[in-house]
Amino acid sequence: MKIICIGRNYIEHAKELNNPVPTEPVFFMKPESSIIRNNFPFFYPEFSKEIHHEAEIVLHICKVGKHIQEKFAHTYYDAIGVGIDFTARDIQQKCKEKGLPWEKAKAFDGSAPISEFIPKESFENLNDLNIKLDINGTTVQDGSSKDMIFSFDKVISYVSQFITFKIGDMIFTGTPAGVGPVQINDRLEVYLDGKKMMDFKVK
Ligand code: MG
Repeated sequence: MKIICIGRNYIEHAKELNNPVPTEPVFFMKPESSIIRNNFPFFYPEFSKEIHHEAEIVLHICKVGKHIQEKFAHTYYDAIGVGIDFTARDIQQKCKEKGLPWEKAKAFDGSAPISEFIPKESFENLNDLNIKLDINGTTVQDGSSKDMIFSFDKVISYVSQFITFKIGDMIFTGTPAGVGPVQINDRLEVYLDGKKMMDFKVK
C-alpha cells in the first residue's frame, strides 16, 4: 500500500505559498507509517515548530493499473474519503531552498490522518465535491473538486505512467487555499459534501 499526494493542485493554494502554478501534476509519497485512522489524535512532533494542515479529498484505488488512459481512469477508484496532509512547513521551506526532497516535512509518522471511505456512487457530482475543514469550530478551508487544476482522472493517468497502482493505494488530491498552522489542543473536523468524516484533536 502506498499513498500518492498531489501538490499544488488548486491555483489559490499555489499562490498562497508563492509557488508557480504547475503545468503538469506534482506528486510525492507518504509511507504506511504516516497513517492515522479512527479519529486517533495527531501528536505534534518535536522536530517542527510550524505544522500546517492541508485538508484533501482522498481516492481509494480498487484495481491494479499502469499506463492508465484518462478515459478509463474513473474505473480505477471506487471510493472517496478525506485526509489531512500534515506538513512541517518550516522544514519543507528549508528543503525547498536547498532543492532537497520533501519527505522529512511530509512523510513523518502521523502525517496522514485518513477517514473512512464512501462508495463514489453515493456522491451527486464528483466534479463538484465540497471539502471543508473547521478548527475549533471555525471554517479555515472550504473548497471544491471543481477548482482542481488536474482532475481525479488526469492525476491517476499521469501518475500511472511512472508508478503501478495497486488495490488499496490512496491518492491525496491536493489542498484548497487556507492552509495554516495547527496548535496543541486544536480540534479538527473535516466534512465531505456536508457529511462529517473526521473529528480529532492535536495533542
Ligand atoms: Mg497537500
